[in-house]
Amino acid sequence: MSAKIIDGVAISQEILAEIREEVDQLRKAHDIVPGLVTILVGDNPASLSYVTRKIRTANELGFHEVQENCPPDISEADLLALVEKYNRDPAIHGILVQLPLPDHIDDNKVLYAIDPDKDVDGFHPVNVGRLMIGGDAVRFLPCTPAGIQELIVRTGIELSGAEVVVVGRSNIVGKPIANMLLQKNARANATVTVVHTRTRDLAAHCKRADILIVAAGVAGLVKPEWIKPGSCVIDVGVNRVGEKISAKTGKTIAILRGDVDFDAAKEIAGSITPVPGGVGPMTITMLMKNTLASCKARV
Ligand code: NAD
Repeated sequence: MSAKIIDGVAISQEILAEIREEVDQLRKAHDIVPGLVTILVGDNPASLSYVTRKIRTANELGFHEVQENCPPDISEADLLALVEKYNRDPAIHGILVQLPLPDHIDDNKVLYAIDPDKDVDGFHPVNVGRLMIGGDAVRFLPCTPAGIQELIVRTGIELSGAEVVVVGRSNIVGKPIANMLLQKNARANATVTVVHTRTRDLAAHCKRADILIVAAGVAGLVKPEWIKPGSCVIDVGVNRVGEKISAKTGKTIAILRGDVDFDAAKEIAGSITPVPGGVGPMTITMLMKNTLASCKARV
């Protein structure tokens, strides 16, 4: 039987509608709306496209949105001063610095300058520590792992006691999602294994996963025979494997594939995310959710 396809676009729309509703309530009750500043340095086309989507979503939700487009040669000191300006601005609840930054700027120095209570990307060491502690300590979950957890929970997949295997140990996906799912709470309580490039038998670990989360960045890494029948497969990988002409716009667009052989895997798994249209749409949505949460914490 074919797996249930976990529709990240639909779930994302559902969450955005909930956020919109809460923004309206905040405006009516407290005359306040979530404020987000997006800071972009230079004109890297991929960064510009990401930032544009974030700005569009924030505007659609009725957020107070401020754009800072800095020249590529802005000094590190000036960029730090800009971050500090928004740390002090009471109308701003979330600060997003689009990465990567130019070589003459230390990414970490800038990210660590953001007030942890406005760090809606969840990359500041204070928020990484809070995530590790869990419970009431948690302030902002990083957006892609938060999106993965939301997809699993909203699909009704049982996490408590489940064998979760995470492929990949990056700071933005693998490590945080592993930490989040082993926490003692109703949206977690899983038994988590993290596998990586030095793991001896990747296939054996994947095969026993009730929930397999793959974030390696290697197209087709996970073979269908590694998938436990009936399991939930979350494919985070986004790999450009070629180009095609869009039937809609006539423009050249990238052909994207995940880390899992989707067509074969969907005949074995119980549920699976497609690429594109699975985890991808959730990331910006969770950024908006974090910004809303930050605003509510101020109220
Ligand atoms: P990364 O390169 O920082 O980390 C990849 C991890 O996978 C590493 O820890 C590495 O040990 C592991 N790995 C790589 N090859 C492996 C192999 N052959 N066997 C076992 N482990 C292997 O990447 P990342 O930033 O975590 O991103 C992973 C993928 O997820 C990428 O394709 C990226 O584009 C995608 N991604 C998608 C979103 C989104 O959809 N919103 C967000 C972030 C990342």
